[in-house]
Amino acid sequence: MKRIEYDVVVVGGGPAGIGAAIAASENGARVALLERSGRLGGMAVQALVGPLMGGVKSRVVENVLKKIGGHVIDFTRLDLQYYEILSSLGVDVWLHSPVVSVVRKGMSVVGVVVGGKGDQFEVAGGVVIDSTGDGDVAYMCGVEYEQGRLIDGLCQPMSIMFTLGGIDPSKRIYCGSEEQARKLVLGGRTWESIVTSAQASGELPENVGVIRLYDSQRPGMSFVNATQVNGLDGTSPHDLTLAEIDGRKQAFQIVDFLRKTLPGYDDAYIEMMPSVIGVRETRRFHGRYCLTCEDLLAGRRFQDAVVFDACFCIDIHNPSGSGQADGRDSAVQGNALNVKPYEIPYDCLVPLGIEGLLLSGRCISATHEAHASLRVMCIAMAIGAGAGAAAATAVGKGILASQVDAGELRDYLLP
Ligand SMILES: Cc1cc2nc3c(=O)[nH]c(=O)nc-3n(C[C@H](O)[C@H](O)[C@H](O)COP(=O)(O)OP(=O)(O)OC[C@H]3O[C@@H](n4cnc5c(N)ncnc54)[C@H](O)[C@@H]3O)c2cc1C
Repeated sequence: MKRIEYDVVVVGGGPAGIGAAIAASENGARVALLERSGRLGGMAVQALVGPLMGGVKSRVVENVLKKIGGHVIDFTRLDLQYYEILSSLGVDVWLHSPVVSVVRKGMSVVGVVVGGKGDQFEVAGGVVIDSTGDGDVAYMCGVEYEQGRLIDGLCQPMSIMFTLGGIDPSKRIYCGSEEQARKLVLGGRTWESIVTSAQASGELPENVGVIRLYDSQRPGMSFVNATQVNGLDGTSPHDLTLAEIDGRKQAFQIVDFLRKTLPGYDDAYIEMMPSVIGVRETRRFHGRYCLTCEDLLAGRRFQDAVVFDACFCIDIHNPSGSGQADGRDSAVQGNALNVKPYEIPYDCLVPLGIEGLLLSGRCISATHEAHASLRVMCIAMAIGAGAGAAAATAVGKGILASQVDAGELRDYLLP
């Protein structure tokens, strides 16, 4: 097997991987970013997820947002914009490079194996950063993890996001949340009650609690966030197959409903279907600290913080029914909006039981509730930046990633 060596190997090219590669490179490391698909951007480009949400104080995130034109994404070119940023820093980007196994030396991971259609490669690294969303590398290393909510392990639902073209621009409606669905009145009825009756009569799929219609850069186009596939595991090919089929059928049912129900939508059609279903939640690995709901509600500060002033509601889409979490199954009911700007400590990025590996993005050590806030893309990118800066520091100093003093990273990480 061919062997190629870097200082830092980032696995996964979503927001967390982008943040990690930028920070590792800016801190002097030779970096490879390995992405299994043909595009950088993760859920945003593969599953049509946007805009980039979440408040956070992060030099890397601020700079990226400046370069890509802000929080609202152009899905057709976000991958190229990320590529330009990474290549200008000298990061080696490997597309079509799924990581299929890890190389270990005792209790340390020292590299990963990239599989593909031809020869396999060993990509060795002083530190490997797992930015795969599902934590594939940590899983292959045998790090313990939790999945879903405490009571029954059910995760947040998966969704097929899609865009709708052919809308009369003067009649395009906007509904971004449950709250707005309760306020938006159409023909004397709220949008919420119109959708709920259609759901009860079987005209809409069972778990569609609200049809969120977001604006896009184009006046005759909307983003639709409405399909909901519950009770399936986003790491099982069997379940993912069922979810893809069900989610795509739901999308067409929703479009039929919109065409019949909304004036100006008579000629609406699905313009863009994503290449994969959006997966909100899978594995959360055990790290030296587990971030909790209480930490977010208190706006807790940490001495070893690597993410600063993160802010986003605890947004749990109901794992066992329609709409938002109903509070029977977790500490949170609806959207917990009272999150105070919080910090994420380095200890959440350091997995237990293995050296040479850092976690980043939505698979870090956190509870179901805390994950439901930190999973948004700006915060995921800031977590990646923390992991990247720490990895480069470890390599530069010749110490283990677990020994990095995160306090030393503050000056770089803060804008
Ligand atoms: C339906 C839906 C709607 C959402 N809406 C929003 C929103 O409006 N705004 C917002 O900010 N966030 C939103 N989110 C959340 C957000 O998209 C994700 O939580 C975020 O993208 C997580 O970032 P990440 O980098 O950890 O993972 P991802 O974005 O999933 O990126 C992981 C990357 O790793 C790659 N990868 C995976 N396994 C391997 C492997 N073995 N080898 C190599 N590469 C691999 C993947 O191809 C992918 O590119 C939404 C999520 C969903 C599912």
